[in-house]
Order: sequence, then structure tokens, then C-alpha cells
Amino acid sequence: MPPNNVIDGPRVSTWRCPSCQESVPRLLPNGKTNRIPVAPERMALPDGTVRQACARVQGLRAPEICYACDQAYQELLGTLVRPPAELGDARGDPGLNDTGLIGALLPIADQGTQILIFNVINEELRCTEIERLISFNPDRLTYPGSRGAIAPRIWALYEDHLAQLHARAPVPYHPE
Ligand SMILES: [Zn+2]
Repeated sequence: MPPNNVIDGPRVSTWRCPSCQESVPRLLPNGKTNRIPVAPERMALPDGTVRQACARVQGLRAPEICYACDQAYQELLGTLVRPPAELGDARGDPGLNDTGLIGALLPIADQGTQILIFNVINEELRCTEIERLISFNPDRLTYPGSRGAIAPRIWALYEDHLAQLHARAPVPYHPE
């Protein structure tokens, strides 16, 4: 039994996030809504090949996802990834030629978010893998400090995305 000086909080009803497919609260602890509309630029890199691959993925796009998924989208979009079976820690080392990139995340209603991974094959950028967000292995994410053998096209997409993120970030305050 709870101590009698504790008052029950309001019951916050839940909804099923179409991205993680979890039952999540409708409101965040700060009172804001936990249903975030996903802007197109947060779902896919601005690239023709990426857009075409997205258009080929069937299924109804969910208009809103939960706060945690929205944060995951921001972390994952444009991030370099290693092939599923590669062992060891490549972070900090020069990149390898089998390094790919997360080009898009699509919130498909009833299926959960699908992650589109791109690699360069025969000099062409291609969607080589579609992974579900809930079963994606985060150990595959990699952050090499230099291009190494990474395909120039993949590296260019990665650098452009980083530049975009930095351009959007608030400018630090420098007192005179
Ligand atoms: Zn979610």
C-alpha cells in the first residue's frame, strides 16, 4: 500500500508508436505530447538515389512517432554502418571499403520503422539492406575519423549530412 501522503498522479493513457511498436505514454513528463510528426528531412538524406529507394518501399507511412524514436532517427540518419558480421571495433580507425551508410528511416504503419542501408556496388550507390529498427544491431554503427577505403560517394553523403547538422546547431556564445 502506498504511504498516505503520496497522491496518485493523473493516469496518462498510452498509444502504440508505429515506429517501435511499443505502448508509450501520450504525454512526456514535461507535459508535451509524445507524438512527433516526422519531417521528410529527418527521414531521408537529400539524394536522388535514396529518394528512389524510399519510393520503392511499400506500406503506409505513419505520420507521427514517439519522442524516443524521433531521437533515434536523428542519431541514425546519415551514420556509417559496417556489414552485419564484421567483428572488432572500427571506430577511430580509417574506414573500410565495405562501410555503408543509413540513407533513410521509414515509419511504416503495422511493420515498424525500416532502416535503409546503402553501399556502393560497381561504382553505383544502391540500397543493399532493409533492417527493422527494433532488431538493428547498434554495434554496426561506426565513426571512422578518416575516409580510408570508404567509397567516395558514401563518404561525401556522410560529410554533407554532418555539415547540415552543424549548420542547424545553435551557434556557441563567444563573449567579446
Ligand atoms: Zn517509438
